[in-house]
Amino acid sequence: MKNKYVFLFDEGNQQMKTILGGKGANLAEMTRAGLPVPEGFTVSTDACKAYYEFERQLTADILQQMKEALHQLEMRSGKKLGDQSNPLLVSVRSGSVYSMPGMMDTVLNLGLNDETVEGLAQLTNDKRFAYDCYRRFLQMFGDVVLGIPHYLYDNALLEIKREAGVTSDPELTFEHWMRVITAYKNITIKETGEGFPQNPFDQLELAVKAVFDSWNNQRAKVYRKAHQIPEHLGTAVNIQLMVFGNMGNDSGTGVAFTRNPSTGENTLYGEYLINAQGEDVVAGIRTPEPIERLQEQMPEVYHQFQNICQQLENHYLDMQDIEFTVEKGTLYILQTRNGKRTAKAAVKIAVDMVQEGLITRDEAIMRIDPNSLDQILHRGLDQNAHMNIIAKGLPASPGAATGKVVFDANLAQRLAHQGESVILVRPETTPDDIHGIIASAGILTSRGGMTSHAAVVARGMGKSCICGCEEIKIDLQAKQFKVHSYTIHEGDIITIDGGTGRVILGEAALVDPEFTDEFKTLLLWAEDIKEIHVRANADNPQDAKISRGFGAEGIGLCRTEHMFMDSTRIPIVQEMILAESTPERLKALERLLPIQQNDFYGIFKEMQDLPVTIRLLDPPLHEFLPSVEDLLVKVTLLRERKENPSDLLQLEELLRKVQTLHEFNPMLGHRGCRLGIIYPEIYSMQVEAILRAVIQLKREGIQCFPEIMIPLVGHVKELSIMKRVVHQTAQRLMEEEKEHVEYTVGTMIEVPRAALTADEIALEADFFSFGTNDLTQTTFGYSRDDAEGKFLSYYVDSQILDHNPFEILDQSGVGKLVKMGAELGRKTKPNLKLGICGEHGGEKSSIRFCYETGLDYVSCSPYRIPIARLAAAQAVLQSGRAKTETSQL
Ligand code: ADP
Ligand code: MG
Ligand code: MG
Repeated sequence: MKNKYVFLFDEGNQQMKTILGGKGANLAEMTRAGLPVPEGFTVSTDACKAYYEFERQLTADILQQMKEALHQLEMRSGKKLGDQSNPLLVSVRSGSVYSMPGMMDTVLNLGLNDETVEGLAQLTNDKRFAYDCYRRFLQMFGDVVLGIPHYLYDNALLEIKREAGVTSDPELTFEHWMRVITAYKNITIKETGEGFPQNPFDQLELAVKAVFDSWNNQRAKVYRKAHQIPEHLGTAVNIQLMVFGNMGNDSGTGVAFTRNPSTGENTLYGEYLINAQGEDVVAGIRTPEPIERLQEQMPEVYHQFQNICQQLENHYLDMQDIEFTVEKGTLYILQTRNGKRTAKAAVKIAVDMVQEGLITRDEAIMRIDPNSLDQILHRGLDQNAHMNIIAKGLPASPGAATGKVVFDANLAQRLAHQGESVILVRPETTPDDIHGIIASAGILTSRGGMTSHAAVVARGMGKSCICGCEEIKIDLQAKQFKVHSYTIHEGDIITIDGGTGRVILGEAALVDPEFTDEFKTLLLWAEDIKEIHVRANADNPQDAKISRGFGAEGIGLCRTEHMFMDSTRIPIVQEMILAESTPERLKALERLLPIQQNDFYGIFKEMQDLPVTIRLLDPPLHEFLPSVEDLLVKVTLLRERKENPSDLLQLEELLRKVQTLHEFNPMLGHRGCRLGIIYPEIYSMQVEAILRAVIQLKREGIQCFPEIMIPLVGHVKELSIMKRVVHQTAQRLMEEEKEHVEYTVGTMIEVPRAALTADEIALEADFFSFGTNDLTQTTFGYSRDDAEGKFLSYYVDSQILDHNPFEILDQSGVGKLVKMGAELGRKTKPNLKLGICGEHGGEKSSIRFCYETGLDYVSCSPYRIPIARLAAAQAVLQSGRAKTETSQL
C-alpha cells in the first residue's frame, strides 16, 4: 500500500498527534466534534521525514496526495485555487508534535496573485480589503518562504506612509496599497532575482517546503534543546481555508484561555482585536482589548464562544488555549491546545479539576511537572519594603527578578554566561530573541499583550515577565529607556515583578513565597501516594527549619565542614591543622568542641523526633588554609622589608605547612575517612560534640535520632576502625555523663570500591547513604569542576552523553553501582537503611530510580523538598504500583 501523507481534517483525530502534529490532530478532533473549523488538510510528519530523506524534495506521492486533498477542498467550498472569479485562499501553518510557540511561521492568504486579488476584490466588493490581503501575503511569503529580511518591507511601507503624510495603516487608501504592492514585488525581484511566484500551486509547494525547512532553523533548534524535544519528530503542515477577521468592524480575531494562565482562576481570559487578521494579536503590534469587552461588542458571538470553550475543556479535560476569528459576525475556531500556564496556575487548575470531578487525584499529581514548582518556591517582592516604582506594565508571568538592563539578546546571553543576572528589555520580542530570553532572569517589553511572544515564552519557562509597558520609551540606538524623569542606561539595575507588572528602580527586597491552599492540597495527596521518604540536606538550624516547613522527614546529609569555614572559627581550625603534635591538636579541638556542640544542638532541636544524618569532616585540610600563592606574596614582601622577623618566621612556617599539605589531586587525596584514620582525634571530637548535644536535649526532654556517617569509605577496614573510634568516644561520654544515648553508625557509598564490596562494608554499617556526587566523579573519573568548565557541555551537545550526569543520575553506569551497592548491602543485612544524598536526590528521574531500587529515602536541598515529594508520588504512579484506593476520588 502507498504511504498516506495527506489527511483531510475529517480523516484525523486527537490520537494522531505523532502523524498530524498537535495543531493538525486538534483541528481534526474539533472538526469531528462539529465545531466551526474552516476546512482543510494536513501534510503529515511522515511527509516531512520523506522530504529530508529525498534531499529536501516533496516526492511525487506527496504532491499527488496534496493535489487530491486540494481538489476535495475545492469541491466542498465551491472555490478554486487560482480561479479569477472565485479564488480559494488558504493558510499554511506548521504544527509539530509538541507545540513550539512562534517557532515556525504561518503564511496567510496563500493563493493570491495579480489576478485572483481582483476576484477577491469583486467578491467582497472591497478593493482596499483585497489589496490589503495581497500585500500582507507578499510580505509574509517573502519573509517566511523566500527568506527576505522583513525590515525591507517595513521600510518600504514606512516610506510610502511618509510620502502620503500618514502614520497608521488604516489611513492608507487602496491606491497606496497598490504602490506598496509594487514596492514589495520589486523587493522580491531584487532579493531573489525572480518575480513573485504567481502560480498558486507553486506558492503552496514552496510554502510547504519552507515549513519543513523551518524545522531545522536556528530558533527551532534552540527551543527544542531548551525543552528537550527530540530532533527526529519532524513537523506537519496544515493547509486551511482562509477566514477573514479584517473585513470590517463586525470581524475580528483573538486568543483566549479557558482559565487564567497566570493564577489558574476559572474565568475566561483573553484578548482580541476588531478588524484584524491572524498574527496581529500575538505579534504585539497593536495592544488588544480584553475578551470581556467582546460581550458588549458582539454578545451572540461571545455567548457562542463561551459555550465552545466549555465544550473544549470538557472534551480535553484541561485548560485550553483557543484561537478564533470572526468573519462578518460568524465565529470560527482556528486552534485549540492545552494552554501553557504558570506553576501556580497549573496547581490550581489541577486541584480544581479534581474538585469539579473532571479528573482524578492521580491525574492531577501526574499533570504537574515537579521542576515547575521551582517557580512557586521562588521568592517574590517584599510588599512592605520601600520600592521606587518607575513604571507599570501587564503582569505577564509572575516572580520577581533583579538584574542589569540589557537591550539585546546576544549581550544578554553573553553577560548571563559570565554569571550576571540580566533583564532583557525590548520593544517586543520575536523568536529570534529566544537565546536571550533563556539567558535572562526576566523580560520587560514596551509593546504587546498577555499573549505576545515574550509573555507566552516566559510563562512556559517560569520566568518573570512584564509586557506592554508602554510608559517606557526605549531607544535601542542610545541603549537606554526613559520613563517619566528617569533615564535608565544599559547596565543599570532594575527589578521587575511579573506578578503585578511593576518595574522598580534598583534592587528590591524579596520575600519567601506563600503557599496556596491548592498547593498544600496537592502535596497532601502526594504524601498519601508516595512511599520513599524525603529528607533534606541541611547544615544549620535555619535550613533545618525551612526543610521541616517543606515537609522533610529528616536530614539526610548534614555537612560539618561548613561549620568549620565560619570566619570566627577558622583561626581555631587552622591552629588544629597546623598543630605539630597530638597534644597541641587536642588543645585546638577542645576549643572547637563546644562550638560544634552548639551547632548540632540547634539542628537537633529543629528536627526533634526526626533522624539526622551527620557526616564527619570530609574535605582535604588545605581547604581551610590560605593558598600557597597568597602566602608566597606575603612572605616575599616581608623579606624585602626585613622589619618583623618574628612575623616572617611564622608566615614561613605556615607556608611550609601549606606546601606539605599541597595535593596534586585533592578530590582523590587525603580527605574523608582518610583524615579520620590519620587524625582520629578530629572525628572523636565531632562525635563527642554530636552526642553531648543529644544528651543536652535529652535532659530537656527532647529525643534525637543521630546517625553518624563516615565519608569516602572504600574498604571495610576503614569503616571498622572509624566505628571503633565512634564507639569508644560514645562509651567514655556515656560513662562520664551517666546517660545512655542511641545512635547509629553508617557510611557513604561514594567510591566504586565501596559499591563493589558493599556486602563486606554492610557488616560494619547500620546504614548506607549513596553520595552520588562523588560517586559520579569517581565512576566517570571526572572531576566535576574541570568537567563542567571544560568538556562536559560539549559531550552533552554532541550527544556523547544524554545529560549532565551531575544533574541527572547516570542510571546505566553510576546507577548500576547504586543498585549493586543496595543489593549486596541488603544481602548481608536485610534491614540495612538506604538513602541517597547527592544532588540527584531532588531530581525527578533520579528519584524514580531510587524508588524502584528500593531505597528508603532521598535527600535534597531544602527548596527542592516539595519537588521531591511530588516526584516521589509520581514515581509510584508511573511504576504502576499505585495502591488502588488512591485512584478513587
Ligand atoms: P502559531 O502557531 O504561531 O499560533 P498559527 O498557524 O496558529 O500560528 O497562525 C497564526 C495566526 O494566523 C493565528 O492568529 C491564526 O488564528 C491565524 N490563522 C491561521 N490560519 C488561518 C485561517 N485559515 N484563517 C484565518 N486566520 C488564520
Ligand atoms: Mg496559533
Ligand atoms: Mg563525598
